[in-house]
Amino acid sequence: MKNRAHGIKDSARPLGSARGRLVRLRFGASPRREPHRRNCRLTMVKVLSICVLVVTVCLAASSVRSADKTPQIALRRTTNTSSSLYAKLQSVDIDDVRWTKGFWAERFDLCHKVMIPNMWQLLEDPQISHAYDNFLIAAGLKKGRHRGPKWHDGDFYKWLEAAAFVYGVTKDEKLNQQMDQIIDVIGRTQREDGYIHTPVIISQRSQSPDSTEFANRLDFETYNMGHLMTCACIHYRATGKATLLNIAKKAADFLYMVYKKSPQDLANNAICPSHYMGIIEMYRTTGEPRYLELAKALIDIRDPRLRGGKLTPAKAGETGTDHNQDRIPFRKQTKAVGHAVRANYLYAGAADVYAETGDKSLLAALEAIWHDVAYRKMYVNGATGALYDGASPDGSKNHEAIQLVHQAYGREYQLPNITAYNESCATVGFALWNWRMLAITAQARFADVLELALYNGVLSAISLDGKKFFYTNPLRVVEDLPFELRWSRKREPYISCFCCPPNVVRTIAEVSSFVYSISDEGIWVNLYGSNVLDTKFPDDSRVKLIQETDYPWDGTIRIILEDAPARDFSVFLRIPGWANGSIVKVNDKLAGYNLKTEQYFEVKRKWSAGDVIELVLPMPVKLIEANPLVEEVRNQAAIKRGPIVYCLESVDLPDGVKITDVSIPPAIKLRERFDEELLRGVTVLQGKAHVLGGSNWGEVLYRQISHQKPKAVDIRLIPYYAWGNRGKSEMTVWIPLR
Ligand SMILES: [Zn+2]
Repeated sequence: MKNRAHGIKDSARPLGSARGRLVRLRFGASPRREPHRRNCRLTMVKVLSICVLVVTVCLAASSVRSADKTPQIALRRTTNTSSSLYAKLQSVDIDDVRWTKGFWAERFDLCHKVMIPNMWQLLEDPQISHAYDNFLIAAGLKKGRHRGPKWHDGDFYKWLEAAAFVYGVTKDEKLNQQMDQIIDVIGRTQREDGYIHTPVIISQRSQSPDSTEFANRLDFETYNMGHLMTCACIHYRATGKATLLNIAKKAADFLYMVYKKSPQDLANNAICPSHYMGIIEMYRTTGEPRYLELAKALIDIRDPRLRGGKLTPAKAGETGTDHNQDRIPFRKQTKAVGHAVRANYLYAGAADVYAETGDKSLLAALEAIWHDVAYRKMYVNGATGALYDGASPDGSKNHEAIQLVHQAYGREYQLPNITAYNESCATVGFALWNWRMLAITAQARFADVLELALYNGVLSAISLDGKKFFYTNPLRVVEDLPFELRWSRKREPYISCFCCPPNVVRTIAEVSSFVYSISDEGIWVNLYGSNVLDTKFPDDSRVKLIQETDYPWDGTIRIILEDAPARDFSVFLRIPGWANGSIVKVNDKLAGYNLKTEQYFEVKRKWSAGDVIELVLPMPVKLIEANPLVEEVRNQAAIKRGPIVYCLESVDLPDGVKITDVSIPPAIKLRERFDEELLRGVTVLQGKAHVLGGSNWGEVLYRQISHQKPKAVDIRLIPYYAWGNRGKSEMTVWIPLR
């Protein structure tokens, strides 16, 4: 593995193969140059001539495949671990996977046709969002002041990333031109030294005295620049244009300069550190070693001792808090704490640094923290960050020094339902972290959680029409709540804090890039859905296959090989943790049965065009209970079928029956039925539940249990992701057993 990666590293850095280098020259980027020697000039000319010839032949050979692919860049991965020495798996190119029909094809299409244009209208309308307006003002193209949250630039870059990815698959020329115009404006906002952050730049244009860089850690400068970097890498790989990448390089160079001159500033401003993932992806894209140096340093400078601080809690707002995961050095951390989006972004970034450096102390911390989340702090739907507000009493026994946290991980097993925070961005961050853990370990448990979060955490945050959003994602909603929660419990067309909606949209756009991974050994099928994969192995041999399935409603998956290299290779099929009794057939012959769950099942052979793999993942309805320490769901059940978590919504109950009146018998029979008219087509679960009258509690807090016989009532359960699309309603994932 390492030798292979080294081979690629030596020949492919900084921009992949010979095709990559051509692009670099075309767009005027500066490769690392060898010392020039006059007496070598003739030899160099000869070598270059041969290189040009080889490149021409290579391009001609690949012209059939790349005829419909605009960029002439060798590697166009979403996250490019192809040269990462400590990643076991590589992702495939942006346009290597194309959804053909079914669940994800419909959502990708909606993302292209509705989510992206609708969100652009929001972002460019100064009466609604200010995001684009801030760039126009910062660029000097319009007069005005900065409005909206300080992290609004990052929101905008996330939308732009979604547009770039969708362009990479669809080649929608309108998107291409739109991105060109926007990038031109973004470029005009950037200072000559690379600094780019519209609140401060607008301030500086108006010569405001408080316009200092990194003056306030809650200005989210590094967060904004991080999303710029990730977006720029995707845009470069999708379009072949270095316009945005060059802007991101200047920004990355600026951060490197800050690190060299004033690492304390960079440590203080590591808020919601999207720049960890961003700077590593910039390293992978450009091969610039300073970016890797910076990425490693970003982890190290979090150590309070290096910042001159003490290992004791600081006052609110200062560095050194559990809220910002920097009270103790990252390598010593074993629990997920504090702000969940910041935490998950940090963990994803640290996983990226491990993929490049192999620093075992990082992986040890990540494994411990992942265990803490997956077994103690994750909701049944893959959401994380249980608390609106709380405290982290771990740092001190002194009551006055206890630190506040918000939008945060709680204690182990502290998983309330009605007041669950579960910010949509936290679920996205959790998915990104698990995607990276999968790449570095090739272990199916991470893909299991990724799938859980995508279907039940990410999708729940956006309405079925693609135009309304949830900021928080509770697992139970009741009408009679005697207090207001900070965020709306109904889907909203615009949210004043707009971090989540574009984060969800870019993730939906990019799901196709999570479906397969590749390695020297073969293809890894991580997710299921009807699509065509046309990609290349690390040795450049081509593989093409078709996946046909009605997943997630049906667990039968057919994979038809269309093109395969003339040698043995493996197809690794993920057998999810819930899929007991799975079987695999190859060309109608049984290849395995009762397969081990939460593992990849390997089928190794010499494949030929027309070979068919059939995988059957049984999907019986399951009643799920939680560890007894999760007090909030004692004696309650959640219902799952395959990867889908279900819920009961009040619109599916008889009039006058409240969500809290309903219980189900432990032996309930739930019949499954696909309803193509309902909620864009869902499999619903129907059965008989119990309703106990007397829901009028009034001012009563406690009362004697009634011995009244409950009435039977028909219930219909729908997927949790689809709730809140039929007007105002109550909803619950957990239902009492009785
Ligand atoms: Zn958010």
